[in-house]
Amino acid sequence: MRAAILSTGDELTTGRTLDTNANFIADHLVAIGIDVAAVLVVGDYPERIAWAWREAMTQADVILSTGGLGPTADDLTTETVAAVAGVGLRMEPAVADRIRQMFAAMGREMPENNLKQAMFPLGAEIIPNGLGTAPGFRLTLAAAHGPVHGIVLPGVPREMKQMLTDSVLPWLRGARGGADEYRSHTFQTFGISESALDELVAGALDPAASRLAFRAAFPQISLRVTVHGPPGDVDRRLAAAAATLRARLAPYCYGEGDTTMEAEVGRLLAAAGATIAVAESCSGGLIGHRLTDVPGSSRYLLADVVAYQNAVKESVLGVRAETLAQHGAVSCETAEEMARGARRLVGATLGLATTGIAGPDGGTPDKPVGTVCIALDGPTGTRSRRYQLWGTREWVKLLTSQIALDWVRRAQLGEDPAASAILRR
Ligand code: AMP
Ligand code: MG
Repeated sequence: MRAAILSTGDELTTGRTLDTNANFIADHLVAIGIDVAAVLVVGDYPERIAWAWREAMTQADVILSTGGLGPTADDLTTETVAAVAGVGLRMEPAVADRIRQMFAAMGREMPENNLKQAMFPLGAEIIPNGLGTAPGFRLTLAAAHGPVHGIVLPGVPREMKQMLTDSVLPWLRGARGGADEYRSHTFQTFGISESALDELVAGALDPAASRLAFRAAFPQISLRVTVHGPPGDVDRRLAAAAATLRARLAPYCYGEGDTTMEAEVGRLLAAAGATIAVAESCSGGLIGHRLTDVPGSSRYLLADVVAYQNAVKESVLGVRAETLAQHGAVSCETAEEMARGARRLVGATLGLATTGIAGPDGGTPDKPVGTVCIALDGPTGTRSRRYQLWGTREWVKLLTSQIALDWVRRAQLGEDPAASAILRR
């Protein structure tokens, strides 16, 4: 089964809104073995929407469209799809009643144009929308190569996602036919670029039996493998594919499944009953922010001191004036004293510190922009390492936070934290 995804809205073609709907839909289609042949994005013009539908009908057996189902004049999907299919529109009284009731429940007068959302092409099946006023619909169109299933969903991402998961995907699995089931497994990696990751796993699996998908939204660089097979065998096939990949990815894989570096760090600290104190200079609180993104992090995060000025490094963390004078604020010596100071301040198992030059100014020949020192203090002593990072200020901060969190993860696993590294490529 081949699919085309259509996204409609002026906000998408003018660059104001990122097309996250297509992204979400594609991800879920690929995971159930549906090949996405095209993604088309058009503005709110009937002739452009009709063009996209006609093009999609030449490429796909199923078309998934989002957007243009609202009550306003620029919401044109329903009438345009009906016109492409060559059918008229009808009012669905049950949907009209529901829209009236939703307005009544909010104590608001219903503008008449909202009833537009109760109009559907003749022959369409309604796809309920549990979260908003606009239901979607499914309609069969006649293409030159045979029937094409058109699936029309609202643009509001929250509504679209729920409708896709609850109604559309189960229906698609049935329509796709065949006895095969699909299973996926995801690896989260750090320290390697997407292209290097690609090379690392090249040839590992039979492309006919499995499909690899890379996703790089730093700091999340993940690799997902999808396999298919008869229900009795698909789990074994997935386990075998995952084992092959695991062996290749081992040095770079920090977690499996839907996880993050901060969640992994939290899981390890909680399991060990360990606590942590953070002292941040160049990362400016980002490590604390990421750690506190994980629910339940108060079990292990005791404190995060953002010690940005030298005076605060001295007064709050106890960094010695001589250390700052002799080695500078951006040095392994200072980072180590920051880590020890944070740990001592609150009596944590571990003290983690960052200090560096995030740029764009402040670099010197000795310590160019991107120079970052990380230190970790714990029961077995203090480790530190100087890194040469690169990129924008935001990037240096993010990379610093990722490496520092990876230090904690490695230390908890009994590995050398200073082995954490990232390839630039
Ligand atoms: P609509 O169904 O066209 O009225 O869309 C409602 C809202 O959903 C729009 O104003 C956008 O904010 C959002 N939206 C529509 N299409 C997309 C898309 N492809 N990706 C992300 N957001 C979208
Ligand atoms: Mg719109």
